[in-house]
Amino acid sequence: MSTAIVWFRRDLRLADHPALHAAAAAHDRIVALYVHAPEEEGQGAPGAAGRWWLHHSLAALDASLRARGGQLTVVAGSSLDALRALIAATGAEAVYLNRIYEPHLVRRDAKVRKALEAEGIAVQSFNGSLWSEPDAIVTKQGGPYKVFTPFWRVLRTHVEDRAPWEVPRLSLYPVSDDLPGLVPIDSLALLPTLDWAKGFAEWTPGERGARGMLELFADDALAHYTEGRDLPARHGTSRLSPHLHWGEISPIQIAAFLRERAAKRRNGADPEPFLRQLGWREFSQYLLYHFPTTTRKNFNPAFDAFRWARRDAHALRRWKEGRTGIPIVDAGMRELWATGWMHNRVRMLVASLLTKNLRQHWTLGERWFRDTLVDADLANNVMGWQWVAGSGADAAPYFRIFNPVSQSEKFDPDGAYIRRWVPELADAPGRLVHAPWEDPAFLKASGYPLPLVDLKTSREAALTAYRNLRHAP
Ligand code: FAD
Repeated sequence: MSTAIVWFRRDLRLADHPALHAAAAAHDRIVALYVHAPEEEGQGAPGAAGRWWLHHSLAALDASLRARGGQLTVVAGSSLDALRALIAATGAEAVYLNRIYEPHLVRRDAKVRKALEAEGIAVQSFNGSLWSEPDAIVTKQGGPYKVFTPFWRVLRTHVEDRAPWEVPRLSLYPVSDDLPGLVPIDSLALLPTLDWAKGFAEWTPGERGARGMLELFADDALAHYTEGRDLPARHGTSRLSPHLHWGEISPIQIAAFLRERAAKRRNGADPEPFLRQLGWREFSQYLLYHFPTTTRKNFNPAFDAFRWARRDAHALRRWKEGRTGIPIVDAGMRELWATGWMHNRVRMLVASLLTKNLRQHWTLGERWFRDTLVDADLANNVMGWQWVAGSGADAAPYFRIFNPVSQSEKFDPDGAYIRRWVPELADAPGRLVHAPWEDPAFLKASGYPLPLVDLKTSREAALTAYRNLRHAP
């Protein structure tokens, strides 16, 4: 009887799982393994909100495997040690896994593969998370793309490369408490000890939750995605980001589901603008793979000469707490704290305030997001921050500094989003919800703080710093 280990990582699902699919086709018995080894993941290790998600996602995967007569073997510690011990205990001949493209994990996986292959164990790896792998898309000159639109033109031709796979018929290694290192999920202590995650209850981590979110989105917001995706007061986007980060659903499944649905319903919603956003996700993985130092360094080296302001602990704290006195920014930061998620438009605004008006280094914001977002994802987060800061690939031109007041008036016209998250301003009349400082008496009575910075003078200062950068030797 031949046995294989399927090493689950950021692919916490059973359907459209290339490694599981291949292992089930080639072996009689499958051992499903998850190794909790955050120290091997570097900057990509889950933060506090990510750990909350991981706990529930592992539990969901374990429940699916138990319903099929097996279990998820959860081990804490070194990945290589865990694999070796499990190989010895089960007689497994091969290890199957889906690839991850983060620099630390690329290196770790190469080491694990080398060590196991030297011991006679076959290691098979697959693409389980992208429409097309980073190596497969190159410019005519043979290098990586640095601009999104031409990258997307090529990537788009791969979206329908294959149909998603169903869950294979699985013969799982029987439930056994004797497997080496096996620990209960609870013992990983992934859940917060304080009660700050109670607002996360609206999420349903796991494969079933991901599918439910996709169906909800396709039934409702997809038809208005182009306009709706910029309005933070509405559920105008899919909220699939944490499910995608943990691989509870694949982009291949998403595209196939939307294609089928469009074919069934004439005049169905056009999925293209949404697929293009998923293209940005692939672009960020692509950039991280080809430019691995950009997790900390500016993508554009000319930006190394930029004069950031001195680190301002007080301003940073008020930004984190949602007390900057700029309503749309505070609404976003409070939404983040309460739910582990923030609307994309608002992510851009809070990042712009921090990196441009306050001129705090983008890595400070990146770190906070990494700890507090349930969808924290090294590639997307770094690209998002560098894009807003102006130091990234295909970044927003530096001189386009968001004005949070006019953005708020445009995308949250009646202030519904602000009123929800900033209760001090729930009854603010008219324009004051966007700029309460315009009526000092109202501001005082509301208990809402004065703005941390003057938007106009801080914008000028940022532009001056940028002009100096361009003239730097
Ligand atoms: P939808 O609009 O429904 O989009 C569908 C999917 O496409 C998303 O789930 C995501 O996987 C991908 N996507 C959409 N927009 C982007 C984008 N601009 N860049 C890359 N992928 C995109 N996204 C993360 O998943 N993790 C992060 O840590 C993260 N950090 C960010 C930090 C900053 C400063 C900014 C500006 C953006 C960041 N984003 C991040 C991108 C984006 O804000 C989120 O992916 C999006 O808000 C998730 O909501 P959704 O699933 O409803 O998106």
